[in-house]
Amino acid sequence: MDLKDSSAIVTGGGSGMGRCFVEQLAKAGARVFFCDVNPEALAATCLDFGVQGTLADVSKEEDVARLFDEAEAAIGPINTLVNNAGILRDGLLVKKDRSTGEVRGLSKAKWDAVLAVNLTGPFLCMREFATRAVQTELRPAVAVNMSSISRAGNYGQSNYAAAKAGLVADTVLWAKELARYGVRVGAIAPGFIATPMVAGMPAAALEQAIAPVPLKRLGQPEEIWQAIRFIVECEYFTGRVVEVDGGLRL
Ligand code: NAP
Repeated sequence: MDLKDSSAIVTGGGSGMGRCFVEQLAKAGARVFFCDVNPEALAATCLDFGVQGTLADVSKEEDVARLFDEAEAAIGPINTLVNNAGILRDGLLVKKDRSTGEVRGLSKAKWDAVLAVNLTGPFLCMREFATRAVQTELRPAVAVNMSSISRAGNYGQSNYAAAKAGLVADTVLWAKELARYGVRVGAIAPGFIATPMVAGMPAAALEQAIAPVPLKRLGQPEEIWQAIRFIVECEYFTGRVVEVDGGLRL
C-alpha cells in the first residue's frame, strides 16, 4: 500500500515509538488518528504533528469501539492499524529475600496488567479493524503488531514475554485467516530502543542489556519506523516478523 493511501490508527501514539510512527505517517502523507492513555502526551502529539487523537485504553472493549468510531469520523475508513501500545511490569517469577529468606512471587496484578494491554489490547483492536474491513470489503488493508525480542524469553519478564510471543503466534494465524479478505498482518520485534519505556530501566540493567548487542547501542524509533514502512508498502509480506534488534540474540 502506498503510504499516501493509508488511513491509519496508531495505538499508544503519545510517546516513544508510537509518537514517532504518528509523525512519520503524517509526514509521508497518510491520514493518521491515534490513541493514548496519557492526556498530556496525547495533547503534545496532536499539537506537534497537527493530527487528531483520543484518550482510549486498548484493553477496554468499549474504548476500542469508540476509538475506531472517532477515527473513522475524523479520517474515513481505516485501512492501516499499528498495534503499538504496550507496558512493562517486570519481576522474577519468584525471588528470595537474602536477609529474611522470604520468597515472593510475581503478582497476579502485574501478570494481568501486562497481558491486558500487550495481548488483549492488540486482539481487541485487530478484531475491530478486521470486522470493519471485512464488512466494508475495504482492501488492501494492513496491520502491524509490535512484538519484542523479549518474546524469546527475557529474564524477569514472564508476563511481557508471554504477551509478545502470543502476539507473534496471532500475527501468523490472523494473516492466514484474513488473507482472503485482502488484509495483511505483520509484526515487528524490536530489540532495545531509545524510548521512555527503556529510559525507565535502571542504568546497570540498561548497560547489561546493551553489552551483548553486536551494534553496541540502542535502536532509534525511526529505525523501527523503517520496518513499519516496509510492512505497509510490501504487498507480498504477511504473517511474519521483522526483527530490528542490532543483531542481539537473547
Ligand atoms: P512507551 O514509550 O512507554 O510508549 C507507549 C505509549 O502507550 C505510552 O504513551 C503509554 O502511556 C501508552 N499506553 C500504555 N498503556 C496503554 C493502553 N492501555 N492503551 C493505550 N495506550 C497505552 O513505549 P515504547 O518503548 O515506545 O514501546 C512501544 C511498543 O513497542 C510497546 O508495545 C513495547 O512493548 C514495544 N517494544 C518496545 C521496546 C523498547 O525497547 N522500547 C522493545 C521492544 C518492543 P503511559 O506512558 O501512560 O503508559
